[in-house]
Amino acid sequence: MTATEDAPAHFIRRIIEADNASGKWGGQVRTRFPPEPNGFLHIGHAKSICLNFGLAERYNGSCNLRFDDTNPAKEEQRYVDSITNDVQWLGFDFAGQPRFASDYFETMYDYAVELIRKGKAYVDDQNAEQIRESRGTLKEPGTPSPHRDRSVEENLDLFEKMRTGEFPDGSKVLRAKIDMASPNINLRDPVMYRVLNAHHHRTGDAWHIYPMYDWAHGIEDSIEGITHSICTLEFEDHRPLYDWFIEAINEGRGPGSEWGEPIVHPQQIEFAKLRPTYTVMSKRNLLKLVTDGVVSGWDDPRMPTISGYRRRGYTPESIRNFCDEIGVTKFDAMIDIGRLENAAREHLNKVAPRRMAVLDPIKVTITNWGDGGDEGRTEWLEAVNNPEDPSAGSREVPFTKTLYIERDDFMEDAPRKFFRLKPGGEVRLRYGYWISCHEVVKDDAGNIVELRCTYDPQTKGGDSPPPDAEGNVRKVKGTLHWVSADHAVKVEVRQFDRLFWVEKPDRKPKDAGDDWTFFENLNRDSLQVLDACYLEPNWKPGESEAGFADGITRVQFERQGYFCLDDDSTGDRLVFNRTVSLKDSWAKQAGKG
Ligand code: ATP
Ligand code: MG
Repeated sequence: MTATEDAPAHFIRRIIEADNASGKWGGQVRTRFPPEPNGFLHIGHAKSICLNFGLAERYNGSCNLRFDDTNPAKEEQRYVDSITNDVQWLGFDFAGQPRFASDYFETMYDYAVELIRKGKAYVDDQNAEQIRESRGTLKEPGTPSPHRDRSVEENLDLFEKMRTGEFPDGSKVLRAKIDMASPNINLRDPVMYRVLNAHHHRTGDAWHIYPMYDWAHGIEDSIEGITHSICTLEFEDHRPLYDWFIEAINEGRGPGSEWGEPIVHPQQIEFAKLRPTYTVMSKRNLLKLVTDGVVSGWDDPRMPTISGYRRRGYTPESIRNFCDEIGVTKFDAMIDIGRLENAAREHLNKVAPRRMAVLDPIKVTITNWGDGGDEGRTEWLEAVNNPEDPSAGSREVPFTKTLYIERDDFMEDAPRKFFRLKPGGEVRLRYGYWISCHEVVKDDAGNIVELRCTYDPQTKGGDSPPPDAEGNVRKVKGTLHWVSADHAVKVEVRQFDRLFWVEKPDRKPKDAGDDWTFFENLNRDSLQVLDACYLEPNWKPGESEAGFADGITRVQFERQGYFCLDDDSTGDRLVFNRTVSLKDSWAKQAGKG
């Protein structure tokens, strides 16, 4: 259950609640998520998934995963697999197996024959270009096709031949006979089927015609008994067509009719798409990033795909919480991608175990370590695993004579307000001891290679030392993370920045030339690989800590951010991806601007 469980009902919930009150669907709620398997799912699809599956959960209904596989030229089995996996990973259950539009091709064909026999559809010999030109404009009506008044017999014969492959691609279409003068251009005799002699990833070579979206979609919904067919706003103008097709099939149906009983007429409802800032969303553009090698694949951690976010370390909960929080409206607005990043921070803060890792190390030698004689000793100090979750327990971290701290936690000529380590200054090493720096060692080129420090044995665990003789208590302002050089595990860390510099990367500037593409807005510095980072030896979430159900190892590196273990890791080389920093650096930049 999410934080927004009791949020006010959005307009689609109000429609459903009114339907339930009037008994329109007998209290049933059946929705579907209908992706086309022509790419990986992106964060926009996650919104649609959360909406459709979420409504089914809330109203004790069901939601189908149905592939809209009506365009064999662009669809592949691997996309089917990744989409199925993504929906399951997000935590949704699609009652049984995924469904496929192609399973209904035969029924769709029968309904098309029925429309021909009712005089509501005809075969047109015009090509795509001619059809487009004769469609008319918003101001002028369209021109009827010379083939519009073919006889039912001729249409039936030609349509069957289209099906069995007697015509070349694009040579004939089946069109609905509606109204060439309709103010809604979608109703000017839309195409229902096109000839396409293509191999389909599921039906093989069985079909030589493929249905158009508008014809197919309502029938798919109807066959599955969908009550509320939820889609995005660009289909608002198609709704009259959606309704026309179902009504045309139902015309003359009823008890004792030769056509049979009426079919279910779902209600189409449109909502505004998710449009996040700093990213492109269309599958065509995402595919271009993949094929041009800008990213390593659809699941590159910088991609706005669900598989990209998963690999980056986002949790399903954080994506679902984000989708709940942004709400559902008919208003088309951009959403700050920072809100998704915040949802990840918020969830990971609660559940990610803490570890210490030094990403850009500088060596620290504790010169008075072993003053008692045992220089090589290791002290194991208790460190809390997650201050937000007492049940996560604690672990022990080793403290030794040689440590690493973060290079930018030290400054030689530090301003007064620099509360981290500086010559003569003192800081707390978290869970360790207080140290002060008394010597800076440089190489011949003047680079700092080592800091020589002393520790105060009275500050064990990072606690304040007892007051001095006059009753004064020493204070430090800075607390740093650190690792023991002898124990640390050397790892690779990949840090990501946004893929684009600008909020709307695919908006072409007015003065741009014809060769402009959204690649102009790419942030070419979006990946930073740090190959010598040092991580405390307890890198695995301990057994006492909550594991992640999806098998992904996620941690917070203290003071750095949230990270996850990447699949590129091998037995002797661990690779971590930075999911998100602890604070939003973009918000800070925007504030300064
Ligand atoms: P794209 O334009 O990115 O290729 P699409 O709409 O063609 O996306 P589909 O596979 O047809 O992709 O989409 C499946 C479902 O997801 C549809 O119901 C569609 O309306 C919905 N959807 C797609 N993009 C978004 C988005 N940005 N926000 C919300 N829902 C979306
Ligand atoms: Mg689509």
